[in-house]
Amino acid sequence: MNPPLASALDILERLIAFDSRSSESNLPLVEYVRGLLHGYGIESTLVPDASGTKANLYATIGPRDKPGLCLSGHTDVVPAAGQPWTVPAFEMTRAADRVLGRRVADMKRFLAVVLAMVPRFIDVARQTPVHLAFSYDEEVGCLGVRGLLSRLKDAPVRPLACIIGEPTSMQVAVAHKGKRAYRCCVEGLAGHSSLTHLGVNAADFAAELTTYLRRIARDLREHGPRDPSFEPPYTTVHTGRISGGIALNVIPDHAEVEFEIRNLPDDDPQAVVDAARRYTEQTLVPEMRAVHAGSAIEWQSLIDYPALRDQPVDAWLKHLACSAARNPETRTVSFGSEGGLFQAIGVPTVVCGPGSIEQAHKADEYVTLAQLSRCLDFMEALAGRVAAGSLQAA
Ligand SMILES: [Zn+2]
Repeated sequence: MNPPLASALDILERLIAFDSRSSESNLPLVEYVRGLLHGYGIESTLVPDASGTKANLYATIGPRDKPGLCLSGHTDVVPAAGQPWTVPAFEMTRAADRVLGRRVADMKRFLAVVLAMVPRFIDVARQTPVHLAFSYDEEVGCLGVRGLLSRLKDAPVRPLACIIGEPTSMQVAVAHKGKRAYRCCVEGLAGHSSLTHLGVNAADFAAELTTYLRRIARDLREHGPRDPSFEPPYTTVHTGRISGGIALNVIPDHAEVEFEIRNLPDDDPQAVVDAARRYTEQTLVPEMRAVHAGSAIEWQSLIDYPALRDQPVDAWLKHLACSAARNPETRTVSFGSEGGLFQAIGVPTVVCGPGSIEQAHKADEYVTLAQLSRCLDFMEALAGRVAAGSLQAA
């Protein structure tokens, strides 16, 4: 086994052992990474959340006063409870052609590869720096990275470009859809089910809202903008959860609807939100209030991150990443990432990481050694470009 791969596996083994579910503190993991970088003489900046229990880590290898290449990934993982793991989730299990372990796919393997490459980056980052940006709370709506990005936005030097290591089987992804998600709490009036005219049935109004959302979804599918590079090639609207009521003979006074919009990069999700809000405010709520003045439909935003757009001005980054990945074909991905947020502060971004999203978030999550090696080759090619100081050369 070549030394960078052995080192990546050792680091991966450590990373897997940290319980960095989004519900837990990521500080033990961050401290481990900080210590590892410190050992190489690289200081990290931590950007903590309001509670002080989580932090983004940002570190620069090479000159700090020059823009460079940013390698980014999230430290948090989704829970594994209730999944039929056949190997211990918190340990790394080595098999002939792969390693298994908690969230090895999404996305600790990318972090491990990047960290294994640090000595190499130190060698080459004389003129052009390499920045590491490790975030928290990505899995719950790309929340954590925003604190880091608002700092970077106003920093004297921003990265020239960013590569996010979400699993794309090492093929360069140049676009993904954006996502908005909401919870609508419907507050009606309870009563005996025989006296329906005296109550406000929150479940009924929740159902009317989901029916309306379904109409919007159908309209977008049949008449909305299309982009054939996505599957499906239109903006989707989906209700994921609906609840309400306590017993058959009680008029429900409370119901909830959770829905999401996944928009094409060139489609504005706000139009859907505005239409649904108008419908609740102008149609549903007045009907509810005619019976009970205290009725309401309250909106809560759950998730909001922008799409990643394939921008012609960023063609140089596409070329750089495709040549490093030794695959000229780019793709889009169906899942979201922090990429749209990096792009929103003016940092050109693509997504490229080892393994497939199909292996992510599952029991016995694994990564093949072949994919890890390809990711190391990718990093080695990037290191070559960093050494030549020619990130933007065609
Ligand atoms: Zn991920």
